[in-house]
Amino acid sequence: MKDGLTQQERRKAWLYAIVITAGLLLAGWLIVRPMGSASVPATLPAENDALLHAAQAMDAISIDAAFDPAARTLTATQTMTLRNRTGQMLTQATLRSYSGAYLSQETSPAASDELFTACYGERFSTGGLLLDEASVNGEAVRHTWEDNARTVLSLPVAAWAPNEVITIRLQYHVYIPLCQSRFGYHDGVYALGNAFPVAAPWVEGECRTDAYHAVGDPFISECANWTVRLTMPKGYRAAATGYAETAETGDSAVQTMTAHGVRDFALAISDQWHTAMRMAGDTMVAAFARTEDKAGQMAEYAVQALNCYTARYGSCGYPTLTLCEVDFPYGGMEYPRLAMIASDLTGQDLAYTVAHETAHQWWGVTVGSDSYRQPWQDEALCEYAVLDFIGATQGDAAREAAVYQRVEAALQVTVPRGVTPGSPIDYFADLDEYTLVVYQRGAALFTALEKLMGKDGLDALLRRYLEACRYTIATRNELEALASQAAGMDVSALFLDYLDTELR
Ligand SMILES: [Zn+2]
Repeated sequence: MKDGLTQQERRKAWLYAIVITAGLLLAGWLIVRPMGSASVPATLPAENDALLHAAQAMDAISIDAAFDPAARTLTATQTMTLRNRTGQMLTQATLRSYSGAYLSQETSPAASDELFTACYGERFSTGGLLLDEASVNGEAVRHTWEDNARTVLSLPVAAWAPNEVITIRLQYHVYIPLCQSRFGYHDGVYALGNAFPVAAPWVEGECRTDAYHAVGDPFISECANWTVRLTMPKGYRAAATGYAETAETGDSAVQTMTAHGVRDFALAISDQWHTAMRMAGDTMVAAFARTEDKAGQMAEYAVQALNCYTARYGSCGYPTLTLCEVDFPYGGMEYPRLAMIASDLTGQDLAYTVAHETAHQWWGVTVGSDSYRQPWQDEALCEYAVLDFIGATQGDAAREAAVYQRVEAALQVTVPRGVTPGSPIDYFADLDEYTLVVYQRGAALFTALEKLMGKDGLDALLRRYLEACRYTIATRNELEALASQAAGMDVSALFLDYLDTELR
């Protein structure tokens, strides 16, 4: 050999090279891995081409915010580039700023008779968004709140032509109330659900400005491309719609998050987070909780759910899913690429809640629907998905038992006259009635469709629904038409039976 080494010396040299390379790789991994991670790639999974392609047609929202934990405030500048997609000349832009409702006890969705004590304890605490300045295309404008709850924000626009893009800039403060809710502070966690203004969507020719109701998920919006840059004191971290590590310099930590094609951007900030990281196929799961154990459990259940749903319904197409523990009486609360999970859940309740909220990444998030007037369209489907989760993790017999316990038993309970799974959210008196009727009875539509077309047929229908309605707000008619196509017969009578007919 040219180097003049003996065979034994060459072998030894190779052995050293392998040991040194492995050592360097291990050291590199120890340095770059996120805190508490297990099997996480060195580079975060990227958004896929299909998502980025669809995103080109969407509006953009960028936020630069500073978080002050002692004052419980977020000081933000938000820039929105919005296209007029109504086909009509407009003279105003209508935004939804849901957190405004938390300013007063009369309008807060957490202050209903049912929820007040669970959310506020003994005393109401005010919070919400206060707007300091607004401009349209660089000109300062006077804004108007169109409702008492300050959730409908209108800004004058001089002749906004169809297809024209305008730039809105808002400067505001968000005050976080002492409230165990999707928006509020409790025990070290600052939950910021529906905290940022979004464009009011046009659904079937109507600008939607529905009230921020206490029951259900009373918000609806179109997909947009979000960039959020959040500055916090060192030691704080945000579980958010877009996953990012924090960069700490001096006394502060900065987290810059990008998420294309998402309907909203939510986060929960804390200096107490323990994290668990897992991979489910190409999707990275990040769970944030007050203990490492809890974070690990949430991440495991989410991986099982993601694997099950991806195999059955196709990929929802987002690169990361983050879960975080929040103190609230809702069980779980879904946002794009983020699920808030109630901190008091354990065991099977925790597993099924994570499974339900993970399913929302398909139904409600990727495929949007009208969460005011047709709340069953995502809720019943997510409840149906939990049956598949149970089948995948516990076997067919457990799934059969769950169909009875979670779906068919709900058909036996007496509910007030006029209330059916197809009712809008303001028909429901409380969360229990809403869950029983919309989630559980609603899921009976899908178990009936499964009987009609077989499990493979139903999964194929759901894959078709995902592909046909991805990033849109799907109507009941669209799902019904796809179901008729899949069944090879008109299923409108079945939809009517399960969604609109009172049981006697
Ligand atoms: Zn749900």
